[in-house]
Amino acid sequence: MLRLATKVCTMDLSIVIPVYNEEESVVALCQTLDAALKPLSQHYEVLLVDDGSTDQTPVLLRELVQTYSYLRVIRFRRNFGQTAAMSAGFHHAQGEVVITLDADLQNDPADIPLLLAKMDEGVDVVSGWRKHRQDPFWSRRLPSMLANGLISRITGVALHDYGCTLKAYRRDIIKDVHLYGEMHRFIPALASWVGGRVTEVPVQHHPRRFGTSKYGLSRTVRVILDLITVKFLMRYSLGPMQMFGKIGLMFLVPALLLFALMIGTHLSFLFFGTTVGAELVKRPFWLVSATMLSFLGVQFISMGLLAEIQIRTYHESQDKRTYVIRECWPEETKGT
Ligand code: UDP
Ligand code: MG
Repeated sequence: MLRLATKVCTMDLSIVIPVYNEEESVVALCQTLDAALKPLSQHYEVLLVDDGSTDQTPVLLRELVQTYSYLRVIRFRRNFGQTAAMSAGFHHAQGEVVITLDADLQNDPADIPLLLAKMDEGVDVVSGWRKHRQDPFWSRRLPSMLANGLISRITGVALHDYGCTLKAYRRDIIKDVHLYGEMHRFIPALASWVGGRVTEVPVQHHPRRFGTSKYGLSRTVRVILDLITVKFLMRYSLGPMQMFGKIGLMFLVPALLLFALMIGTHLSFLFFGTTVGAELVKRPFWLVSATMLSFLGVQFISMGLLAEIQIRTYHESQDKRTYVIRECWPEETKGT
C-alpha cells in the first residue's frame, strides 16, 4: 500500500489588515510588508479584509494576490466597519500569532519584529504605543489621551494607547473573542480578563500620506458607550443581579423607610393622638417620592432577574463555560 507522507504545515504568523477605500496605499503597503516579513524565518500569511471599498482598492487587491503568494483577501459585500473587518480576519487567521495593523501606512510594518520579540517573552497580547503620534492634537490626540486614561482606569488594564491598531495577539486568546461595535480596541482588556498577559511597546507612527481618515470626534462617544458595555461584561456578566439589584435596593430601601414612617405617624395619631411627624404625612411630596422610589426599586430588581435569566440562556444555549482553561496536563484532558 502506498503511503503518502503528509507534512503538517503550521502557520506561525498571520497579519490582519482592515482596508476601506485605500487605493493609494495598498500597493505600497504590500511592498513595505513584504520587506518586513521576508527576513523573518517564519511561516506567515497576510489577510487583507476589504471592508466594502468603493474605489479601485478591490481591483488592486486582485492583482496583488497574484504577486504575493502568502496574501489572502476577504471581501465584504458592503462597509461593515473596522471592527467587523478585524473580526473576519481573526476568524480566518491560521497563525499562532496574529498581528493587526492599518492599511494607510500610518503603522510601520518594520515594527513587526519588535512585537514578535515581546511575544517570545511569553506575553499573550502586545499593544503598540504610538509615542509620537502623527495626528491632529485637538480632534484626535487629546480625545484619545482622555479616552485611554478612562479605559485604563475602568478596565484596570493600564495602556497608553488602546486605539493603536498595531497589536500582536496569541491566537489562543482571540479565537473565542466576539467583537461588536468599536470593541477591537478593548481586546487587551478582555484578554487580561481571561487571564492573558498584556504588555505594550512604543512603535512608530507616520502621518497619513494618502486619502483621509475615516473617523472624527464622534468615534469617542461610541468608544465610551462600548466601554460601559465592556465594564459591565467584565464585572457583572456572570451576575447582573449584583449590579441591578444594588441600584434597585438603593431606591427600594429609602422608599420602604418613608412608607414605614408615614404608616407609623398615622397609627400613632390614631391610637395615641400624637401629632409628631404629621407634617410628613400631610405633604403629598413624600408619598409621591416613596411611590416613585419603590417603583424604581422594583423595576431595577426585576431587570436584574431578567438579565440573570438571559445570562443563563446565553451560556447554556451555546454551551459556553463560565471559566477559561489555560492548559491541561496531559493535553487530551482539555477537550473533555
Ligand atoms: N477602515 C475599515 N473600515 C472602516 C473604516 C476604516 O476597514 O469603516 C480601515 C482603514 O482602511 C484603515 C483602518 O481601518 O486601514 C483605520 O482607519 P483610519 O486610518 O481612517 O483611522 P485613524 O487611523 O484615522 O484612526
Ligand atoms: Mg489611519
